[in-house]
Amino acid sequence: MQHRLIATSIPYMNAGPHMGHAMEFIIADILARYNRSSGNDTFFLTGADEHGSKIYNKAQELEKETLEMLDENVELFNTLHTALHTTPDEFIRTTDQVRHWPTAQAIWRKLETKGDIYKKKYSGLYCEGCEVFMPEKDLDSEGNCPIHHKKPLLLEEENYFFRLSKYEEQLKKIISNDTVKIVPEFRKNEILSFLSEGLNDVSFSRSADKMPWGIPVPGDETQVMYVWCDALTNYLSGIGYSFDQEKFNRYYPTYLHVIGKDISRFHAIIYMAMLLSADMETSKNILVHGFVTSAWEKMSKSLGNVVVPEDVINVYGADALRYFITVGGGGVGEDIDYTQTGFHNLYNSGLVNGLGNIANRTSTLFCKYYPDGISTDGFVLDSEIDKEIKFSYGRYITSLDVFDLRIGYISVSTLIDLANKYFDEEKPWTIKDDPEKLRHILLNLVEILYHITILVAPFLPQTAEKMREIFSLTDSKLASFSIDPDFRLTRESKDIKLVTVPLLFEKK
Ligand SMILES: [Zn+2]
Repeated sequence: MQHRLIATSIPYMNAGPHMGHAMEFIIADILARYNRSSGNDTFFLTGADEHGSKIYNKAQELEKETLEMLDENVELFNTLHTALHTTPDEFIRTTDQVRHWPTAQAIWRKLETKGDIYKKKYSGLYCEGCEVFMPEKDLDSEGNCPIHHKKPLLLEEENYFFRLSKYEEQLKKIISNDTVKIVPEFRKNEILSFLSEGLNDVSFSRSADKMPWGIPVPGDETQVMYVWCDALTNYLSGIGYSFDQEKFNRYYPTYLHVIGKDISRFHAIIYMAMLLSADMETSKNILVHGFVTSAWEKMSKSLGNVVVPEDVINVYGADALRYFITVGGGGVGEDIDYTQTGFHNLYNSGLVNGLGNIANRTSTLFCKYYPDGISTDGFVLDSEIDKEIKFSYGRYITSLDVFDLRIGYISVSTLIDLANKYFDEEKPWTIKDDPEKLRHILLNLVEILYHITILVAPFLPQTAEKMREIFSLTDSKLASFSIDPDFRLTRESKDIKLVTVPLLFEKK
């Protein structure tokens, strides 16, 4: 058994959630559920990034207390988690003065003791949107921030800086040799090429009179942390760094960060350097995902092409959105394009006609002929089917261990297609006078359906819940539905009894 911390990035709480957040939560949740059903002690961490001038200003603009606005936005995120059936074990807030602040301040002191934090007068170009000072080389040809298309402001301040440049060589080494494994490979190369241009030290604080909404710098009331030591330390406070040593030791270091492509540098470079400076073990894996686009355009209010997760869930259900995030795109880390037609077709072909069809027709036919169940006595699973099941598990595990959800799901689809094809070819509904043959076909189908139920569960938890009911299993070993490539239901169970459940997916 492994202890695995799987963490999303913490969304910035100046607004409610959007499709990009839903995507990140779904990816992390699938991997958390997969690890749990593989027997790993898994901790799924998420939370909220709640400091900074954008949040402070937004609350002022809305004429609300800052914390009041934050509570409302946090609530929206929690509602989305519930709607998506994502299962975080912890939701850490950076405004948590009991659990988070002591961690951020303790890490600050560690870095300071190491001689990696120093004060200097600084003047630079600052993008308010990104909340970072931007080197001129990162601006576009018109001198604008390439993300916000706005001219950065010239700011002069005396701030604390973190000696990021000191860790350049060490970072190159641990990233290129996969001590910190960045997935997909093209994101790893991007980070390495960024590192090869050389690193500047980063601003680590702002003056408290300009920016009052933040964690005080230990020993200097005139400054607040900004933003790295505040936000990125959530991965430590979220598992108890300053208040639950036992839990912290159990889950540290981070097994996996699931983050968007726009913030990969902050995690792969700044956070890993902070850990090196603090003499702490670096994270094992960073999975960088793309964005959900709308007809290949970035979703934005001004383009009027924003797709709201709740709207999709209300029509198709959370599992359909989870399915789309899993198989709707190309390779790992690439953008996923949403169109209503594309989504609709994927839903009907994969879920209604694929998974839903085989589950419903197998259970219906079984219950029609054998309402009281059948004995498995003397039954031997077809060797071809046995081989396919084994193969699917192998591919499933290999893919999900490298965070390739799409190929992971395709291993399940292979079994779904196999079962549907077998059903069509053997035509069990036409067999009237050969009960032994009928029993054989049905038991083959039951075995495949059992493994589909197990393998589909991390992706489509509500659907898997309904599918488990079909088997009406009471024995705890059989009913655990845990990932075990060598387990066969028809071998372990003396008899099989199915029940019918309502259609898994309504045709839309
Ligand atoms: Zn910007």
